[in-house]
Amino acid sequence: MAPQIKYTKLFIDNEWVDAKSGKTFETYNPHDGSVIAKVAEGDKADIDLAVAAAKRAFHRNSEWRQLDASQRGEIIRKFADLIERDGQYIAELESYNNGTVMNFASMFVGSFVKTARYLASCADKLHGDTLAADGEVFSYTLKQPVGVCGLILPWNAPVGMFLNKVCTALAAGCTVVVKPAEQTPLTALVLASLLKEAGVPKGVVNVVNGFGPGAGTALTHHSDVAKISFTGSVEVGKLIQQAAGANNLKRVTLELGGKSPLVIMNDADLNLAVPYAANGVFFHQGQICIAASRLFVQSGIYDKFVEAAVKHAQSIKVGNPTDPTTQNGPQVDETMMTKVLGYIEKGKKEGAKLLCGGNRIGTTGYYIQPTVFADVTDDMTIAKEEIFGPVQSILKFDTLEEVIDRANNTNYGLAAGIFTTNVNTALQFSKYVEAGVVWVNTYLSFTPQAPFGGFKESGIGRENGMAALDAYLEVKTVTVSLPKKV
Ligand code: NAP
Ligand code: MG
Repeated sequence: MAPQIKYTKLFIDNEWVDAKSGKTFETYNPHDGSVIAKVAEGDKADIDLAVAAAKRAFHRNSEWRQLDASQRGEIIRKFADLIERDGQYIAELESYNNGTVMNFASMFVGSFVKTARYLASCADKLHGDTLAADGEVFSYTLKQPVGVCGLILPWNAPVGMFLNKVCTALAAGCTVVVKPAEQTPLTALVLASLLKEAGVPKGVVNVVNGFGPGAGTALTHHSDVAKISFTGSVEVGKLIQQAAGANNLKRVTLELGGKSPLVIMNDADLNLAVPYAANGVFFHQGQICIAASRLFVQSGIYDKFVEAAVKHAQSIKVGNPTDPTTQNGPQVDETMMTKVLGYIEKGKKEGAKLLCGGNRIGTTGYYIQPTVFADVTDDMTIAKEEIFGPVQSILKFDTLEEVIDRANNTNYGLAAGIFTTNVNTALQFSKYVEAGVVWVNTYLSFTPQAPFGGFKESGIGRENGMAALDAYLEVKTVTVSLPKKV
């Protein structure tokens, strides 16, 4: 049975409101392309109202700013409890609107509850230093919330992105306006209702659905917004940084795409490496920024590995995400499906060897067969551009030195991985690979404590861990005259 749609309006100042224009847009189920609901379409006028509400909630005398830090933590903890209470419904709605396989959606929600609890526990541990300052002064630093934050979300992990960004901002004491992705507007509204139930005062969290060029740009150009946190494409990331620079010099953190290298050495345990490499690129239909989309396999095991990789890809069960035995669901929409199929065609045309998959499945919904290309070379489009689909590209290499240089020969730098039983090889690779996250004999391993983000065009700043909180805080130095002698 389809999950109930409880909220479709904008959430501003703890109230459900229509868009000022009265406009709505349709949102779809990627399993069959059917319309799920009509959702209020926010634009500049609605962003102005939401930012004004967030600004009032950030005033020094507001209920929110007068809370103790530990009380902010309590509200986030209550929010985590409510997500746990409604976890099944949230997972079903995520799956329905985004195509996330139900098993994974439930697992995701469970791990996001942990993230929220971690961030709740951080709220009263954000403090400055007393300084050993020169001269006749007493100096200390305060860490204070940066202000109203604009949080712009992608569609590939809507619940996770919302929770991560919102809970970090709230732990730091900021107020927020959230702009979810056009494809996945629904779960953010449910989470907003739970924040209200958890006791978040009015104006602290606002959610304005709408489109990038409308609501998105209104947020990035607003002079009362102090910071933007964005996850999505490099292209839009660059526009956001320009908007922030052209206007009021907003703080900007960007979590952008990747073309992450995963290296399999001759000495790797193939029983581990084959399934991890497959999961690294096929998980969530390949719609993950850390997808292991350049799989470098050393020449001594290349043929054996390729054979096993194809067998693994062919064993993946693709189908309706609500079926508990399904491993891969549909791509999020027709645009993304067409884009991924276009990359597959390019791979074939440029001479990569298609070993399995390569086609759309059926004619309704946006399903693509798990696809494996071997004999991929560094100059091919499928080895250079982010595909964001279930396409494994296998490249051959001979030496560690060679593979480090080839792994780094990209403008991206989000994640990297290596499978080897030689500790020296693992440590050398980890030291020299240009990536914000490196996994050794594992892949896609996340914990709320570990900072996450990219080198080079994969982004600016970090999410997760205490590093993420710093991005929502300003450091203030206070210096008081204090004679040395009494
Ligand atoms: P996108 O265009 O970068 O969208 C991400 C978010 O930014 C959405 O909320 C979008 O709104 C908003 N946005 C778009 N243009 C904007 C602007 N000028 N100012 C402010 N906000 C704006 O990503 P996409 O089109 O959904 O996907 C394109 C590619 O991005 C994918 O193929 C994939 O390679 C990459 N991607 C990466 C991640 C990641 O996790 N790093 C996630 C998703 C996509 P709308 O929804 O209205 O467009
Ligand atoms: Mg878009």
